[in-house]
Parts: sequence; C-alpha cells; structure tokens
Amino acid sequence: MSKVENFLKSLNDFIAKAEEKDDEKLTDVVPDFPGLEILPKIVEDYEKKIAKLLRNQRKLYLKEMKAFVSKDDKPTLEAILQYFTNNLFATDEFAEEFGEVTAEFLQLTIEELCKKLMESIDPDIPFVETSTQTTNWVKDWSTKLADLMQLNTHKAIEKVLTDAIENGDSIQDVELKMKDLPEFDRKRARTTAITEILTASSRAQWESYMQSPAVVKKKWKHSGSKKNQPRENHVAMDGVEVGVDEEFKIEGSGETCQYPRDPSLSAKERVNCHCTMGPVVDESILGLSQEEKEQLRQEALKELNS
Ligand SMILES: [Zn+2]
Repeated sequence: MSKVENFLKSLNDFIAKAEEKDDEKLTDVVPDFPGLEILPKIVEDYEKKIAKLLRNQRKLYLKEMKAFVSKDDKPTLEAILQYFTNNLFATDEFAEEFGEVTAEFLQLTIEELCKKLMESIDPDIPFVETSTQTTNWVKDWSTKLADLMQLNTHKAIEKVLTDAIENGDSIQDVELKMKDLPEFDRKRARTTAITEILTASSRAQWESYMQSPAVVKKKWKHSGSKKNQPRENHVAMDGVEVGVDEEFKIEGSGETCQYPRDPSLSAKERVNCHCTMGPVVDESILGLSQEEKEQLRQEALKELNS
C-alpha cells in the first residue's frame, strides 16, 4: 500500500471507530497514523461546540414559551404555535453561530489533512495554502448546512405543537416533548461532527490532488463501515478512475460528483458513505525537478484561485 493509501485507511478507520463507539470520548479513539494524533481533539472540540449551541437553542425555546405563557394567562396552543412560527423562529441565532463554528472546523481540518496528504504524495510539493475555490466552498457549504439544520429543528418544534393541538395535549406535555426532542440532543452533535469530518476528508483529497502536479487522475475506492450495509452501486464504483478535475458518474443513479459525499449529491448517495478516493500518480511528473513541479503547482493554484 502506498503512503497516501495508508493515510486514507487510517483516517477512515478512525472515523469508523468514532462512529461505532458513539458513547465514548472522541479523544479516546486514537488514529494510528503519525501526524493524525491531533485530529480527535479537533473533532471533539467541534462536537462540544455543536452540543452547546443545541443546548442553548433548547433553552431559548423553553424559556420563551414559559415567558409567553405567563404573559398571556393560559394561551391556546394555536397562539403559541403562531408566536413560534411568526416571531420566535426569526430570532433564532443557531444557524449563524453554527455556520461560523462549522466553517472554522472545516477550514482547519481540510488544512491539516491536506498537509498530510500532499506530503505523502510528494515531499517536494508540501501544502502551503488552500485555494480560493475551496475556501469559498467551505463558506458556502457551512451556510447551507446551518440553514438546513435550523430548518429541521424548526420543523420538529412545529410538529410537536401541531401534534399537541390535534391530540388535545396540555402546555406541560408540549414542554416535556420539546425538552426531549432529538434535534437538541448530544447525539445530533456527534452525528454532525462525524459527517462533517467525512466531508472535510473528501474535500481535502480533492484539493490535494488538484494541487499536486504528479496526480493526474483520482480513483474511487469503496469502503464501508461495519455498521452499514454497503450499497451495491458504490461497490461497483470501486476502481473507477477519472481526471482530477472531472466528475465521477455514479453507477445506477447516474448522479455526478467531484468526490464521494460531495454535497451536490442527493442524501441517498451521501448518507453513511465512507468511500474515499486515491490519487493516480504519473511517475514521470513525480521525477521532474522541484522547480518544475512548483511551477506546475502555481499554475494549478492560479486556476483554482481565479
Ligand atoms: Zn460510498
């Protein structure tokens, strides 16, 4: 196995372990690749920050509901629902804060992974900076994910209230259900952190291969975790090669993507996917002088930054 393949395998093993032991601290799961030791701490910090934002969000809704109920003696559930959807949802700052935390996490993780990846591919061309294309992508994806997560929380809250109206539940019932919503749970923080380390891993692979002159193609590698059934169409993708800046076309569904778990894919192709992609290296380019290769990298970066 080449050095990069070794690295990608260690990274995937770490993520799979973190996923299996979801009640353990992430820092107790140690990746066995030199230089990856700092990763569990980074992911754990991110998980903790998300968990805190979710706790604050829950606190806000419970507090505001109490305040609304005490202001207007015994309001109807319909009135509470209206207050939530017309006023309260707009004041929710979760998406903004989560978006910032996520952008920071992705940027940091992509940089750390690019360092290891590029050094493993060609020590002559070490990672220096992420391209503008990737920095912009980080901002864009963080905002999208944040909005999506907030929307799902709001939908869940709305459902608690509409169900309660239908069932004739009391305000106390609603309070209890809202408190126990899985949308505010620590588990959601862990799932999100794991999904986003996978996203960062994909993007870092793409960025590293785009910047490394010797990498001419990327090769899909199917990989599953013990927890999940492998999907046949990703197994069929194993070994498929395309140019680094070209898109893969996924067997069966015909969806296209730059890398496994590309956010442009539908959830069906993304969720629980642990596939990776390896670099296809042109030995003759690898053998060029450092100056020649650096020149090629600068050209690639210029293209990515424009
Ligand atoms: Zn997959």
